[in-house]
Amino acid sequence: MTIQSHINALRETVPSGVRLVAVSKFHPAEMIREAYDAGLRIFGESRVQELIVKKDQLPGDIEWHFIGNLQRNKVKQIAPFISLIHSLDNERLMLEIEKQGAANGRIIPCLLQIHIAEEETKSGFSSDECRRFLEEGKWKACPHVRIAGVMGMATFTDDENQVRKEFRQLKSLFDEFKTGFFRHDTTFKEISMGMTGDYQVAIEEGSTMIRIGTLIFGDR
Ligand SMILES: *Cc1c(COP(=O)(O)O)cnc(C)c1O
Repeated sequence: MTIQSHINALRETVPSGVRLVAVSKFHPAEMIREAYDAGLRIFGESRVQELIVKKDQLPGDIEWHFIGNLQRNKVKQIAPFISLIHSLDNERLMLEIEKQGAANGRIIPCLLQIHIAEEETKSGFSSDECRRFLEEGKWKACPHVRIAGVMGMATFTDDENQVRKEFRQLKSLFDEFKTGFFRHDTTFKEISMGMTGDYQVAIEEGSTMIRIGTLIFGDR
């Protein structure tokens, strides 16, 4: 029962206000089942096809989160059931989520993914892009998309100060958006930050949701 013992050890270090997303990408359904039996109910996947296949093999009360780069043409497949999309980072993707949310009679919660790391990557808004996106206000005309907070990934480095600085940046952006755009919206409340290597720093800096793969399931 190594998965169970990893989960128990992890639980000791995670305060009750912080939700744990078990990142199960690349691991088989049997391993997810073990984590489920240990009490976990939120699982994160980064590929649509893989998610669809696993979902059918596992209990219906699992809350599935999508944490990877999401192509517009795949939104349709997850729209009927996805609990949270962590990776909203452009307007066209939002419009597609709106369309598929409407088609399914659902309001789909999404996080604004912000690029906070030094590493070059295609995914995530820059802080300025995200400000502009919110100022433009097209999201207000998307009743089937609920913007529930922000998500970010820190630079992959041993330099804790660097990581802390980036998480602080994300937290302060969250505060700015909360005040500026979501002051009266109680559903804008999530800061998804922290993975196996940096979740403790993330929690210290205000994370409400950590995304843990390796520490629970081992190497991918
Ligand atoms: C894979 C992944 C994780 C989990 O990473 P670990 O280091 O294995 O905990 C978290 N967030 C995102 C976006 C990922 O792609």
